[in-house]
Amino acid sequence: MQLTEKPIHYLRELLHSGEITAKQLVTSVFERIDEVDAQVGAYITLNKEEAFKAAERADEMLKQGDARDLLGIPIAVKDNISTKGLRTTCASKVLENYVPAFDATAVAKLKEAGAIIIGKTNLDEFGLGSSTENSMYKATRNPWDLSRVPGGSSGGSAAAVAAGAACGALGSDTGGSVRQPAAFCGIVGLKPTYGLVSRYGLIPAAPSMDHIGPMTHDVRDAAILLQTIAGPDGQDPTSGRMQPENYEAALTEDIKSLVVGMPAELIEEVEDAEVKEALFGMANVLESLGATVRKVSLPHSKFAVACFYLLAACEVSSSLASLDGVRLGSRVFEAEDTVTMFSKTRGLMGKEAKRRILVGTAALSGQYRKTHYERAQKLRTLIKTDLAEALDECCVLLLPTAPSAAFPLGHKVDDPVAMYQSDVFTSVANLAGIPALSLPCGYTKEGLPLGVQILGRPFDEVSVLKVGHAFEQGCSMAARRPKLEVGTSD
Ligand code: GLN
Repeated sequence: MQLTEKPIHYLRELLHSGEITAKQLVTSVFERIDEVDAQVGAYITLNKEEAFKAAERADEMLKQGDARDLLGIPIAVKDNISTKGLRTTCASKVLENYVPAFDATAVAKLKEAGAIIIGKTNLDEFGLGSSTENSMYKATRNPWDLSRVPGGSSGGSAAAVAAGAACGALGSDTGGSVRQPAAFCGIVGLKPTYGLVSRYGLIPAAPSMDHIGPMTHDVRDAAILLQTIAGPDGQDPTSGRMQPENYEAALTEDIKSLVVGMPAELIEEVEDAEVKEALFGMANVLESLGATVRKVSLPHSKFAVACFYLLAACEVSSSLASLDGVRLGSRVFEAEDTVTMFSKTRGLMGKEAKRRILVGTAALSGQYRKTHYERAQKLRTLIKTDLAEALDECCVLLLPTAPSAAFPLGHKVDDPVAMYQSDVFTSVANLAGIPALSLPCGYTKEGLPLGVQILGRPFDEVSVLKVGHAFEQGCSMAARRPKLEVGTSD
């Protein structure tokens, strides 16, 4: 295994003991990017010059015995999270030249902890999609099989970590966009409780469901990144008052007598035999570690994906309204009058963004507001209540992350409804705002990774991470990395 494919906690030891320098590590990461990114396409923008400067500073601090967790660790950031002085495009032509004047709080916190931001990763435009094919720049490919998608919308972050082209990354998750690409690329992805990680500087898609979360090689690394980026923030009015915990210290392996729920109605929807096997395999491992596994009911959960897409479209239509070339974003100047200018500028957006704006605007207009938007809001409350009741009885719930392993490029991109089904198991956690962790729990016959999710009570990331860590330690599955043929392009 290459140095850059190792977990952060391992690299942290090497850096703090002086076995490697931050400069060496950053050099290796950029060498790896040179080797693989022509094929994988994980990055939109690299931050090479600044990264090397930061590495020099980190090496100085390391020499002085600075023990910060992320000092000298190369991290990638999804390109819808603002980075001061570093282009942030949302994979859209509308924001092609947008260079933020401030860092998102999560990025500022990473930098304070000593992390080195190495670049901005590809996504579905504005986070709208499940395959990263909706990027206005390029499609990202799955490092496990270059003919397949990496998932989305944080596909660039997932592919970068899986390919050893970043040691960890930030993604964003509105309906599954951290967890589903994590599952497709064989890494760990955590959507924290709504309000635990500040959204300040995250360019909004559907703000009541948007979250920033870590994407890493293992659960310990997710805990380390989470404790760095979590915490109250006066800049985000939806930020909670909870202080972050020491999530890493909470990773004991003791899950004896912990109750794990299996949501019956959603599990009935699982069609893929290998996905089912991975899910029950995880339940068996947890049982063998002393947990009690039982069935629970979430009667409204089968409507979650429809409810999510309706509400998300409504919020997206309003979030993207200011990108009109006057208030925000690029402007198309070749237009005879103002209306044409608006329409040409908004026309820079891709198909999926336009579809959401149309659906959302319609669902908020006239009689549809009552019959669609308000109904979906009521459904959201029912879904939330179901989860709260199930999580009263159980400490955590298990669900597959996605209905299948990574699918081939081009397979679903022209069939939006098929694409939307990717979020059938993930969107419940966004509607309810509860924490959900996806971790690798098996491989298909073809050798593609599969993920399972652990969902928990609001602000109980400790249990979610603890169960994930116990599984990681207790299962016999050795951590695999994709075998990329380097230096060739197809
Ligand atoms: N796949 C979902 C969508 O297209 C969720 C995306 C996300 O979580 N950002 O809206």
